[in-house]
Amino acid sequence: MSPTRKRKTRHPTPRPELRCTCGQELMRFWPHCPWCGRTQVWRDDPPVTEAECYKCGWVVSDLHSFCPWCGTDIYEEGYSSEQPLKAPKGFRLDARCDWGCGGGIQYPMPHCPWCGKDQGWDDDGFDGPCPHCRRGVNDWMRTCPWCGGDPTGQDLIPRALRRVRELLRASRVRDWNYRVVLRPGVSGVDPKFPKIIEIDWDYVVKARGRDEIPWTTLVGLICHEAGHSFLYHHWGWTRTPVFKRVFGEVHKAYRVRDDTWVDMQRRRVSKTKSEYVSAYASNHPLEDFAETFRFYVVRRGRMRELLAELGQKRKAVIVYEKFLALDHYLRQVRSRQRQQGRWR
Ligand SMILES: [Zn+2]
Ligand SMILES: [Zn+2]
Ligand SMILES: [Zn+2]
Ligand SMILES: [Zn+2]
Ligand SMILES: [Zn+2]
Repeated sequence: MSPTRKRKTRHPTPRPELRCTCGQELMRFWPHCPWCGRTQVWRDDPPVTEAECYKCGWVVSDLHSFCPWCGTDIYEEGYSSEQPLKAPKGFRLDARCDWGCGGGIQYPMPHCPWCGKDQGWDDDGFDGPCPHCRRGVNDWMRTCPWCGGDPTGQDLIPRALRRVRELLRASRVRDWNYRVVLRPGVSGVDPKFPKIIEIDWDYVVKARGRDEIPWTTLVGLICHEAGHSFLYHHWGWTRTPVFKRVFGEVHKAYRVRDDTWVDMQRRRVSKTKSEYVSAYASNHPLEDFAETFRFYVVRRGRMRELLAELGQKRKAVIVYEKFLALDHYLRQVRSRQRQQGRWR
């Protein structure tokens, strides 16, 4: 007789709430806690199927041929169903196997319990896909609940992020708790989520694959997007006469879409468009601000150096005024924070 491949459960106390030991809420069948990163084992608890995978310890059915969680072969003659089933006791039928074996699978099983093949899921209700495993994650999660990796993808661009932090500190722009996340599509900031700076992950993939795209471009892009995030965070300033005079009317915040990261490569003030720091800045007052912010930060807020370069490039007086307005505003923010005693 072959040894049993499934471990029969012994019934621990049922857990009424789905919470990690760190206290945060979990979704059932998340392999990791998104807050503390702890590995989770979803046992037959409370007991329903009376079976757990011998390898990973997760709840399975005696009728399964493969563990739907770790993919291990758990076929047992006399127990496992010879035909793929829809939903044995303890499991739901959420979908059919992607590979057409006819068996039913429950969200979010990564493997078919009948044929063992990998399953893809659309994770609804999340902010975006994890750059490591492409499963759904939220922007503020610390760990990907699916793969246990960094759900922001910040670990893929540590050098660029370190430089951006360094530049912001040198420019004396206090951290407004922004968060950079790598997501598919375009780079931009949604005014509804002003602290989330989305960076197009294709850009990172390209930059990693080929050497000709310098990482400093990524630094420039993040600084530009940080400018949008900063302004949404200080939106009241856009309604002041000073802001309106130098940058223009912004009416309402719109979803910034920056497809043209190539424009963010320049560290030098361009000669074209004398009223703007770069050609890209002339697209919209919000872009004008983001570009001014980028140059200010990339140059570490060194006004004398910046203004001298504006002179060499024969920029219009208004461009000086944009930098002076930003510099002045940042000083105001600092002194306000000092007064509130929040300045470190
Ligand atoms: Zn936890
Ligand atoms: Zn397993
Ligand atoms: Zn299948
Ligand atoms: Zn992941
Ligand atoms: Zn922009």
